[in-house]
Amino acid sequence: MAQPRVSMRRLCRLIPSQNSRLYTSRTSPQWQSLKCLPRNSQRLLHTSSALASPAGDKVTGQTLREEWAQYSHFPSASKAADFVEGNKVTVHGFLLKRRVKSSKLVFADIQVENGPSVQVTATFKEDGSPKQLATKALRAVPLYSPVCVTGIVAQLNGSRIDLDLDAIQPLNAFPKDIIVSEGVQFPASARHLQIRFSDPLRSRLLARPQIGFQLRKTLNDLDFTEVETPILFKSTPEGAREFLVPTRRRGLAYALPQSPQQYKQILMSSGIRGYYQFARCFRDEDLRADRQPEFTQLDLEMGFATGEDVMRTVETLVTQLLPALNAQFNIVKSGDDIYPVPKRGLNNGESTENGDLQWPEPTAPFLRLTYDEAMTRFGIDKPDLRIPFELHRVDHVLPAQFVSMITHTEQPIVEAFRIRPELDGETVTPATIAEFVDKLMDQLPKPLAKNPDGAPAALMFDSKKPLCGLSSLGFEGFDALTSMEAFSDLEDGDVLVFQARKNAPFQGEGSTALGVARTHFYHSFISAGLLPRSFDLKFLWVVNFPMFTPDDGIDPGQGGQAGFKATHHPFTAPLTEADVELLATDPLKARADHYDLVVNGVELGGGSRRIHLSSMQEYVMRNILKMTDAGLAQFSHLLEALRAGCPPHAGFALGFDRLVAVLTHTDSVRDVIAFPKSMKGEDLTVKSPSRMTAQQLETYHLAIAEKKKVEEKQDV
Ligand code: ASP
Repeated sequence: MAQPRVSMRRLCRLIPSQNSRLYTSRTSPQWQSLKCLPRNSQRLLHTSSALASPAGDKVTGQTLREEWAQYSHFPSASKAADFVEGNKVTVHGFLLKRRVKSSKLVFADIQVENGPSVQVTATFKEDGSPKQLATKALRAVPLYSPVCVTGIVAQLNGSRIDLDLDAIQPLNAFPKDIIVSEGVQFPASARHLQIRFSDPLRSRLLARPQIGFQLRKTLNDLDFTEVETPILFKSTPEGAREFLVPTRRRGLAYALPQSPQQYKQILMSSGIRGYYQFARCFRDEDLRADRQPEFTQLDLEMGFATGEDVMRTVETLVTQLLPALNAQFNIVKSGDDIYPVPKRGLNNGESTENGDLQWPEPTAPFLRLTYDEAMTRFGIDKPDLRIPFELHRVDHVLPAQFVSMITHTEQPIVEAFRIRPELDGETVTPATIAEFVDKLMDQLPKPLAKNPDGAPAALMFDSKKPLCGLSSLGFEGFDALTSMEAFSDLEDGDVLVFQARKNAPFQGEGSTALGVARTHFYHSFISAGLLPRSFDLKFLWVVNFPMFTPDDGIDPGQGGQAGFKATHHPFTAPLTEADVELLATDPLKARADHYDLVVNGVELGGGSRRIHLSSMQEYVMRNILKMTDAGLAQFSHLLEALRAGCPPHAGFALGFDRLVAVLTHTDSVRDVIAFPKSMKGEDLTVKSPSRMTAQQLETYHLAIAEKKKVEEKQDV
């Protein structure tokens, strides 16, 4: 790249001097957890628009040309191999921190992407020398501006590089009205600033493609073929609510794929043996912290294969991934946050020392639990096995009076778990636990507090109290409960949580109230410092789900008249021949060859063996799900592909955003997506979705319904 054409002296004149009131340097190299900007500064960010620049009217061809010349010519950055002590090198980055020791000595940090920290020392002996100009220029560049720095490598030390400054050239000026302070939290509209100024966020975004790269590598080694499938798909009643894309052809629309499921099955009939794709999927669902309307799956399918083959392949993917990541990343802790940073730096690609923390490296085969077992033991179909307690049925030992206190449900099942906090005898005592649990019970999440089967009840074991604090169970109840193996070793400070539920078999629901309470209590105890945080990764398979789940009226399902929908999707095969028979006699009892991969309470992905016979696929859709002819016709492409001698096949989709979130230790997929959508499905950076113009409506033959009509429809 060409050398700068503007002298340093001229640069110093052109750049406004830094206003030190507005810029606060950060103290820690790993910036701390994010806090909120004062309200007025957030307003400042919103109102200072690039388009509303007062300089706008003064811009001329001449000023534009000068500004462009000043900021646009710069030398290329040096290669990693050039970073040798005594060598002259060039670094590109942002001016991060500056310490002016005297007029003759200035230190600065340059933020470079994905490399070591670069510290610059500017000093000079003679006035008027190039070094003096460089020192002066360093003082003049507004903090956080992009710069090109040239200097001599004074020292290389692991992840840090010291440069003696020869020249610094700003490549743009960071404006004064953007306020940066330690732990700053920018509004969602300023995502670019959040990414730039939050080390954890940037590190997670940088780790994401490395995780993808490793997964891709393993699949390529296993002879899988990457195939891209269309994003403009068509509407089919596969299960989730879709996004439609109207076309200019009157009344015709595409739908965005909720997953490439149907295409990948067609590929199996095309003779592709192993397919994979990092697929963008779209679902118009209610959003939560771990859900986005558009998300990425690592989607795969195997021909001439069973569910067992797929599960083994996924285990290979996961078990090969973690050692590969441990070789590439250090995990760092900063305040409460913990995230990976690459070991690779500019220092000739050498690795730095490993920190204390590493990803656990799981071994295959992973534990398997049936859906029924997961629901019975943990009250959830994606159990977090780090939680050191299970649920136990206790209604047979509880006095009727106690049961009637916690529920009005007839003949309920009552279950309980015990949570044991870590007492220290000083600040954490049974008394402090009792106080904490009281507060927790007062602030239960709404679905628990307002549960129609009654809210959970908590009792604390305290040997100093009558019946050890469990007097509401009465003598008999106390004896019977403490004779159960699970509750025979109660200790002071142990908290028992009871919850009733209806006495009915599990039919595809995701959790029970006590299952939700188990997770809630565990995380609340950790947040209060009453239990240690675990960085373990507990992978397991949950298998043998019911094939069908009663309609909940939330997801559209397959739109059939049966009153139930496919638990996974309508292409999933029954588990055994007995289950095939149940399809005709008692379909709600049929189990599916459907498996979910779970880690630490997160459903990482799901898959199934597919129905590869068109006769059975049509039977399930028409006779079991009771789909209409029109609904069935939407799947004619798939039925045709199955009919053309499609081999047995099975597949899986790994939620890639969730995987990255789990591996980079964050609870929200928003932290691993550069431009995530808000809870309302909005992209606040570009402000989408946006209102359609009259012209667009006309082009797509659309009309906006009267507000009243829309509301009436929603009420139905
Ligand atoms: N298409 C399914 C999903 O998106 C995954 C699969 O069955 O392969 O959940």
